[in-house]
Amino acid sequence: MHTVIHRQPSRTRATDPVATFWSCLSLAGETSPVLGTMEAALAALRQAPGAGGVAVAVDAEQAAALDAGWEAGTPWCVASDASDADPRWCAPAGGWALLRPALGGGGAWLQAPVDGAVTVVPAEGPGGQVVLALVIAGEPGSAHDAARRDAMVPVAASVTAALSALAALATLQSEVVRLAGENHALGRLNRLQGRFVGMASHDFKAPLTAITAYTEVLLGQPGNEAFPQSVEFLGVIRSEAARLLRMVDRILDFTRLEFGPQLMTLAPVVLTDLVHEAVRALAPVAASRRLQVAVEAPERLPRAEVDADLIRQVIVNLLGNAVKYTPPGGHVRIVLAEEESSVAVSVQDDGPGIPSEDIRRIFREFYRAEGAAQHAEGAGLGLSIARHIVQLHGGHIEARRLPEGGSEFRFLVPKELGETAGLPAVTGLDVAPEKASQVVSVVLRAIGELTGSPSVLLMLADGHGALVPVGSMGLPGGARRPQPVIMTGGWRSFLLDGHAQPDLPASIGESQAGLFDADGSRLYCPLLDGEEPVGLVVAGRRAGEAAFGEPERQQLEVLARIVATALHRLEGQETRVLEALQVLLQARRTGIPTSTPEALHLTARLARALGFAAADTRRLLYAATLHDAGMARVEDEIVLGAAPLSWDERDEVDRHVEQGCELVAPLVHDATVRGFIRHHHERYDGTGHPDGLAGGDIPLGARVLAVIDAWFSLTKDRPYRRGLDKAAALAEIRRNAGTQFDAGVVETFAALVETDGAAAPRT
Ligand code: ADP
Repeated sequence: MHTVIHRQPSRTRATDPVATFWSCLSLAGETSPVLGTMEAALAALRQAPGAGGVAVAVDAEQAAALDAGWEAGTPWCVASDASDADPRWCAPAGGWALLRPALGGGGAWLQAPVDGAVTVVPAEGPGGQVVLALVIAGEPGSAHDAARRDAMVPVAASVTAALSALAALATLQSEVVRLAGENHALGRLNRLQGRFVGMASHDFKAPLTAITAYTEVLLGQPGNEAFPQSVEFLGVIRSEAARLLRMVDRILDFTRLEFGPQLMTLAPVVLTDLVHEAVRALAPVAASRRLQVAVEAPERLPRAEVDADLIRQVIVNLLGNAVKYTPPGGHVRIVLAEEESSVAVSVQDDGPGIPSEDIRRIFREFYRAEGAAQHAEGAGLGLSIARHIVQLHGGHIEARRLPEGGSEFRFLVPKELGETAGLPAVTGLDVAPEKASQVVSVVLRAIGELTGSPSVLLMLADGHGALVPVGSMGLPGGARRPQPVIMTGGWRSFLLDGHAQPDLPASIGESQAGLFDADGSRLYCPLLDGEEPVGLVVAGRRAGEAAFGEPERQQLEVLARIVATALHRLEGQETRVLEALQVLLQARRTGIPTSTPEALHLTARLARALGFAAADTRRLLYAATLHDAGMARVEDEIVLGAAPLSWDERDEVDRHVEQGCELVAPLVHDATVRGFIRHHHERYDGTGHPDGLAGGDIPLGARVLAVIDAWFSLTKDRPYRRGLDKAAALAEIRRNAGTQFDAGVVETFAALVETDGAAAPRT
């Protein structure tokens, strides 16, 4: 989201240049701040007496710093001759550098895009640096020059004031977004506290009443050895007090977690060991209930990067519930497995299972399923503590009812990453090492998750002719550490080609021996920054897993472009770039189906069927990968909810579009891509969000994303309901053609999925 300014031509009739400038500048519309200011200044200069031609030029570097919407490579000068109706954008030879002497009073600007003797006056940005050059051409002579200067100086002062105001406004806007996020968090905390009070008065009351009553009886019998029940009463007091203590401990755990991610100590941990510890700890209870507990783990499970104490607590909570809720004689299984970027632990039982209407709420604080209270002691905090811990690790937890009865609770935590050279040392980027390694980590994980690859390697160009590994994930135990390679001619031409390939060309085949010595299939994808090869991503699957197909190839290419943009933008805005990359991961974790390779592939085919040019298809795929980022921020229980949304939940979902744009802004520098992302929740009839655009005003790419999103969310299975079949989903989309969706897009889409049947989403 950026400040938008637009021109109001009807008001430009004022003849005073300063008044014209301000009347052309407004805070509503579609133009970015610097562009809007330049166009308003140009309109003002045209009012100057004797102006034969006018131009406004901008220092492109300063513009990019001042305006998130500014694109590198945009023409940097807008000019019009006395007769021109419309201004034209151009990039005079020699760039801003050739203009600088004229700005400093050191001579004429020879490359001015307007004819005549030119007068150049600087206008400053908020930091006092010269950002814009205002230019008027006219008759030569010092008297004319002085007259032009007199007309321009007040305009320059206005421009300077406007740029400062716009910069302040942009800061305020991002502050507003941040505060809105904090407000949301505070609201949650507030609701939580309300529930604490409710729970305290209810659940603490029973044990406390018992303690008080029994204690009073005992107090009434001082030293009475003949009082036979004293031992029994003391036993009750002790067990009730212990119960109270356990509840208090859980609440304390909870508040500690709510505020304490900084308390975590991460280290590589063998989860199988933690599971066995938890099983041992709960063995007496399990034995007393005659439960059979089995642990299944693959022989070679990668280590997880976790806080061992906290994750042990998660396992104890899940296993404790399984033991608690499974009737005597039942079975509990704990299954460990390797996933793309994580290690997964699943706790399954053949107990009563969780009613489907409860799955959405089961992880909420103090939630207990219908009837649970009669079965067993509990405060309804164990699962929310577990979820909190898992989320602190950047992981994911879910519950489901097993088809054969019973429940499964499954959580994923990050896999250990391979140690390699630091990104700042290799690339020379001025980035704090800790931030840099977070970036590498999220890049590896996101690529792994989104392309379904358990192993990923990232290599970056070191500026001295070598590709150096900066991070790896899931390389098989015992694999040789990846080594740097020299970028030979063969390498360069492979990288410049820009396409992901299952094999490196024969010309460089030898030099990469040992680069990635895993069995199974691979995809090598170049990282390009414009025309410059900046690195390589390798994604790998294990022997026995399905080989990579066209959808994964396509997705890896899109991700490589996103990663190259992230690296290009990293310096100076590490935190924002990191956040933007993180939502990629979240989007996949929260099960948003449009972030899968299949969805992207279908999007590409629809774009082709609609006649998109190759470059526009690339833009659409870039947008498709990032467009639901904001959704990752909307609580997953709302997104995945079965019930109709309440008004406040609806508001939250609608707001995601703007949140999403703001979040991914550092990764999106193409205005078309931005438009696709911003408008994918518009409705064809003009009742959508965020701008209420209608019909052809909605960018075509956004209309395509709307249909694709609907298709995948209708057909995807949820934990509590099956997705619609193809025919029913198409019928539902067709029913909304013309109101919600563009009927033309819907028909092309329908023809595509009806004829090939190749659109079953991955669930
Ligand atoms: P508590 O067990 O203290 O009530 P939890 O947060 O651990 O709190 O669990 C919340 C609710 O989820 C429980 O009250 C119970 O209804 C349900 N639940 C949790 N685990 C299971 C399970 N393995 N089988 C059936 N229901 C479960």
